[in-house]
Amino acid sequence: MKIVMLGAPGAGKGTQADRIAEKYGIPHISTGDIFRANIKEGTELGKKAKSYMDQGLLVPDSLTIDLLMDRIAQADCKNGYILDGFPRTIPQAESLTRALAEKGEKLDYAVNVDVPDENIVNRMGGRRACLKCGATYHIAYAAPKAEGICDKCGAGLVLRDDDKPETVQERLTVYHDQTQPLIEYYEAEKILATVDGTQDMERVFQDIIAVLGA
Ligand code: ADP
Ligand code: AMP
Repeated sequence: MKIVMLGAPGAGKGTQADRIAEKYGIPHISTGDIFRANIKEGTELGKKAKSYMDQGLLVPDSLTIDLLMDRIAQADCKNGYILDGFPRTIPQAESLTRALAEKGEKLDYAVNVDVPDENIVNRMGGRRACLKCGATYHIAYAAPKAEGICDKCGAGLVLRDDDKPETVQERLTVYHDQTQPLIEYYEAEKILATVDGTQDMERVFQDIIAVLGA
């Protein structure tokens, strides 16, 4: 099964992608996580990506598309994958459609987690991230067992630089301008499923499973 997650930053794409990946036994691929890992390792790609991410802007397609194509060409992707945070622009979506078509393949679903802007600021302000293993928490809705410590790997949790309120507004503007048009793109491809992302995490997950099938 090949799935892309759509939705505003902070809508819950990563949270749901983790659960879907576990249930269906497919890798969860987050371009944001790949960029953050590169930033942590101090790679050239990380240095370039950071300058855009810190401003709430998208990393250019020229740096993003090949990175994702290389990732989905790896062996663990042969039975499918769930993409979280890619595509974020029409050219990214078109590149993915084209690359799959060349192999006689296509996406199965684009799952749009719908959350209005007014809920997003609260979601992002309360998000705490583990930069070591990529796990995500929320101080009110998904708190770690010990405050500030990752349940999975024991590392310290942080408020991501790009989750600070001044950057969140810019990210929402970028989302509406560049990423939201993908909803129509996948509607036209007849693979769009929209779920109400304002519900609690378990209900959102049940709605997604109802679409994907058990
Ligand atoms: P995205 O991957 O779309 O940026 P995340 O999955 O990281 O979003 O979720 C953003 C924040 O909101 C996280 O702190 C997460 O724990 C929390 N969250 C996710 N889904 C829900 C939900 N249904 N209700 C309340 N909080 C949620
Ligand atoms: P995320 O972890 O998905 O919230 O992404 C964090 C940041 O990484 C975004 O605000 C962008 O700057 C960058 N990013 C992640 N995925 C992409 C993508 N597909 N295209 C461009 N930029 C991306």
